[in-house]
Amino acid sequence: DAFQLYYQPQFNMLTGEITGVEALIRWIDNGRVVLPGEFIPISEESSLINDLGEWVVNKACHEYQGLIENGFPPVKMALNISANQFHKSSELLSCIETALTESNLPGSLLQLELTESVLIDDVDETISIINKLKEKEITFAIDDFGTGYSSLSYLKVFPVDLIKIDQSFIHDVEHDASNRTIIGAITVMAHELGLKVLAEGVETQQQLEHLKSHKCDYVQGHFYAAAMPADDLLAKYREETSP
Ligand code: C2E
Ligand code: CA
Ligand code: CA
Repeated sequence: DAFQLYYQPQFNMLTGEITGVEALIRWIDNGRVVLPGEFIPISEESSLINDLGEWVVNKACHEYQGLIENGFPPVKMALNISANQFHKSSELLSCIETALTESNLPGSLLQLELTESVLIDDVDETISIINKLKEKEITFAIDDFGTGYSSLSYLKVFPVDLIKIDQSFIHDVEHDASNRTIIGAITVMAHELGLKVLAEGVETQQQLEHLKSHKCDYVQGHFYAAAMPADDLLAKYREETSP
């Protein structure tokens, strides 16, 4: 019971409307919040990541359904799926199926975030798993785009819906002309292929302005809100939408 999920909202770049939330795991160790960067890589070296991943899917679906019942808007919830977890496909499929059924959350509200490393492993198998999950109306995002193997060919091959441009391109966008070029190019290419683009790690108004000029669709970052517990997310939503 030492794990907890935090949620970070995502917004429409133009309207500022909330369009999604990403679930991010935390380990609360005697009151200290331990970030996933400290334990996810270790758990990925063993089968622990599969147990942890299953816990996340279950907990997130139940908690999120509770949020919606309490008036949170039914926007998509994104879950991070690690490569090990993704390639244990029968376990993953049954875990997601059970969690959706038990929580009564529709698959259309779930988005799975995969990194480029998941996609390069076994192309045919990966496409087949994605398609099975798409039958449940689950959508897919490529996380940390631009930092991995970045084979542009997989944008054509994999049936994903969203590209999340990695924060490293966003953080010094004001000062780094080549980052601006890269962001512009990713966005144009994604749009031509019919994909949406989200910029993550947006911290300042200036960064936001650059991203607007490049026509990114969605934003996520501390400029709007950091990840927070479910109760705080609901309270913040109510506060911001109350007349
Ligand atoms: P990620 O999926 O790329 O998640 C985004 C990270 O950036 C999160 O860190 C988030 O808190 C942080 N972030 C968001 N906005 C900003 C910003 O404006 N500025 C800065 N500096 N940071 C921002 P977090 O929660 O520490 O998670 C780190 C990584 O751990 C995640 O990166 C993801 O790869 C992994 N992770 C988190 N939860 C899970 C999970 O449930 N399962 C798996 N497999 N991995 C997870
Ligand atoms: Ca992510
Ligand atoms: Ca990311």
